[in-house]
Amino acid sequence: MPDAMVAARDSKAASGTAQQVDVAVVGAGFAGLYLLHRLRKAGFTTVALEEAGDVGGTWYWNRYPGARCDIQTIDYSYTFDPELETAWTWSEKYATQPEILRYLGFVADRYDLRRDIRFKTKVTEAKWDEAAERWQLATDNGARISCRHYIMATGCLSAPKPPEIDGVKEFGGEVYFTGRWPHGGVNLAGKRVAVIGTGSSGIQSIPLIAEQAAHLTVFQRTPNFALPAHNGPSPSDRMSLLQGDRAAYREQARQSMAGVPYPQQTAVSWQLSDAELRARFEEAWGKGDLVYILTQLWADQGVDVDGNKLICDLIREKIGTIVKDPETAAALMPHDHPFGAKRPCLDTNYYATYNRPNVTLVNLRQEPIKAITADGITTGKRSFDVDVIVFATGFDAMTGAIRAVHPITGRGGKSLYDVWAQGPQTYLGLTVEGFPNFFMITGPGSPSVLSNMAVSIEQHVDWVVDRLKALRDAGFTTVEPTETAQAGWGQHMADCATLTLHRLANTWYTGANVPGKVHALMPYTGGVGPYRSICDEVTSRGMLGFKLTGPDVAAQCNDGEVVRLQPDVRLVLNLLGQLNLPPIESMGALGARAFVDEFNKGRPAGRPIGAVTDGTLPGTDGPLPYRLYRPATPGPHPVVVYFHGGGWVLGDEQSDDPFCRDMVRRTGMIFVSVGYRHAPEHRFPTAAEDGYAATRWIAEHAAELGGQPSPVLVAGWSAGGNIAAVTCQLARDRGGPEIAGQLLVCPVTDCTFDRPSYNDNATGYFLTRSLMYWFWDLYCSPADRTDPRVSPLRGKVSGLPPAFVVTCEFDPLRDEGIAYADAMAAAGVPVEQLKARGHFHSSFTMADVIITGVSGRVQMAEALRRFAGLPPEVRRGDENSHGHASPGHKIAAAAS
Ligand code: NAP
Repeated sequence: MPDAMVAARDSKAASGTAQQVDVAVVGAGFAGLYLLHRLRKAGFTTVALEEAGDVGGTWYWNRYPGARCDIQTIDYSYTFDPELETAWTWSEKYATQPEILRYLGFVADRYDLRRDIRFKTKVTEAKWDEAAERWQLATDNGARISCRHYIMATGCLSAPKPPEIDGVKEFGGEVYFTGRWPHGGVNLAGKRVAVIGTGSSGIQSIPLIAEQAAHLTVFQRTPNFALPAHNGPSPSDRMSLLQGDRAAYREQARQSMAGVPYPQQTAVSWQLSDAELRARFEEAWGKGDLVYILTQLWADQGVDVDGNKLICDLIREKIGTIVKDPETAAALMPHDHPFGAKRPCLDTNYYATYNRPNVTLVNLRQEPIKAITADGITTGKRSFDVDVIVFATGFDAMTGAIRAVHPITGRGGKSLYDVWAQGPQTYLGLTVEGFPNFFMITGPGSPSVLSNMAVSIEQHVDWVVDRLKALRDAGFTTVEPTETAQAGWGQHMADCATLTLHRLANTWYTGANVPGKVHALMPYTGGVGPYRSICDEVTSRGMLGFKLTGPDVAAQCNDGEVVRLQPDVRLVLNLLGQLNLPPIESMGALGARAFVDEFNKGRPAGRPIGAVTDGTLPGTDGPLPYRLYRPATPGPHPVVVYFHGGGWVLGDEQSDDPFCRDMVRRTGMIFVSVGYRHAPEHRFPTAAEDGYAATRWIAEHAAELGGQPSPVLVAGWSAGGNIAAVTCQLARDRGGPEIAGQLLVCPVTDCTFDRPSYNDNATGYFLTRSLMYWFWDLYCSPADRTDPRVSPLRGKVSGLPPAFVVTCEFDPLRDEGIAYADAMAAAGVPVEQLKARGHFHSSFTMADVIITGVSGRVQMAEALRRFAGLPPEVRRGDENSHGHASPGHKIAAAAS
């Protein structure tokens, strides 16, 4: 496509006199165009600076053969104007680069955007002018610019990475970069062509280059997962969803995780038979849709190495069936990263291309490139004479276009280059502390490249422009995030990253593709919908985390962190909030039990273990039910007596099933979950006495249960933690049984409600203060509450077995758990504490829902094994490196 018909608009300002605007935008791609439109509508004077000769951004530059979008085009479109949506019809499921470029030109024309764009103009410097409270910009073409606000809409993949191979300059043939493809096209017919790189750009272009070239040699360093696009018309099912209710379809996309309207998958892989797993995979393979296969197979595919490996194996099997030469097929099979942790690709005939007689694959893992010579490429083993080299070697992603293109100098002369020397730090991915009135669209720390960019761009632009409008209307002239807010966002980013498998791959997401770049996962992995709600929360909480100043208004600084909960805890609490449930204490004991039963039916099934058997044991007043969880490994195993949670009123020996299974897998021990009797039918001290009696019986019959003979261990959660703690005291005082260690997870330890956590976390975190009052009232009369059999903190705490005590930051019971741990430690008991940041009362027992609880459960399992005198071999698969990670991969190694 020729350059813009509209020539670069020179500033009217005389040379040396700065062009004065409210807002300067860099970039005229998807983001820059929408920004211009919104800013103009909001009454801001605006200019966009664009290095290219026309609009289009990434679609202006990436004109290589086969370049297409790989999110379905009906989803990869602007949605801000319903009339625009109906004015444009896409011709294919995945539009080609020329069609997308035509679309962006159409949008620019429709809203008359080009008149505010200075094309072929690069910003060469941006400096915050403290006195004027404005950004001063220098450019390589035309007048300087003075603006109140400076917005980078420079895209995430716009700074191509240098080839990093010796000798490129010596090469006598033609050299091309996919990211800077000549506008007139390239004639490859009859030529010997080399392609270096097998990311999305390489994988899209290789089949078409192979059709033209006399011979194509592909130099592959790391194989990537690619799926067939099955391009054609937009699928009728998606089209009818869109056309059936366009507004609802778009809204679902905005609230989704990836910016494409697919539901949250709930079935977990271990619930599905092999036939069901394969059927789901085949359906996804047939759909040709990256977001579908990345999100719709099974719920654990993106968070659990085992669930992920199932997909990796199935894709490798496909590669094996398509590619005829076994050695080539093996070289094309990725083994070094989980599926989805590195950006997978959509292809058309990619793997089949290697069956062509004119295509050779060179596996650089076996013969690295030594140099480029005048005639071609030399590896450690061979030389390849070629006429053309195509570099599909990727980009300095996310930060490249912001950090390195020109110096950006903020408050106090601080350079963004230096501030980000150890990796990008931002608040919301939109702003940076020390850089007032500076914004990024799809910056590092935003969902951007892990989402449908079109949806994320619209959200970012809307949020930024709405804020600028509101600030202007309120008289504020500067806006800047606080250090606390930015650090909190960094922490939240890190918490989100532990949920996914991205940490187990070396990719451009982490900066690993650029030598010398600091490794840090740059995009926000928490999802588009949650991100949107967080941005909205910042607003609704009075610009939380921002300092605002203006000449005629009092400065405002509403400091704080917008997310302090773990990301999955936040999601669960939001979901529970949306259910608008009546308080549990209003349901009556029977109603509450029925509710808990129903609630538990909706959770993911616990993972398979060796065996689960039910039985009864003799209690003090008759039989008590138990459920025994046995590991798959040969026994005999140490035995843990487990007490479920439920405030002495709710739950049963099966109600903590996922937690028990999880702990059995991690510890390799038997868990016997005891069905102690409940209040109000059986009030204090029944639960405590049942717990003690059960422990004694289990210890005496451990061998019959398939376990190692005494000593046993005890564990419990919440009221079950209370019973476990009490059992240890009773066992000490009543002559046994011997207990090797106690695991107390968020235990009730005392009858007073005046510790700070009872107030800080009184409501909003599922277990409320009033629910705890209700539990206490049903179980224990006020006169009995100081009895150590219900308030173990008031008993003698010396001479107890070693303890591991878990408390959660957002739990009313937090402080009494800490108090009990401190008291035992002060009395000489070996105690370890896990104070779980960002977690709530149910975090650790919601195994497979609260994934951020994994590392805590690993620590609990390690403690139990230590108590039992076992070596520290704890199953850590889901928090550890990918099963096939090659040594040498820094991130994988760091995760282990
Ligand atoms: P990329 O995914 O970073 O792939 C670059 C490739 O070049 C990798 O195979 C890399 O190997 C290889 N490479 C880099 N330096 C090398 C060297 N010195 N020697 C040998 N091999 C080298 O880049 P990309 O393909 O341009 O894609 C980047 C991103 O752009 C994609 O992930 C996607 O998000 C986006 N994109 C989207 C579309 C679309 O929507 N259809 C199309 C193209 C790109 P290693 O893996 O070993 O580093």
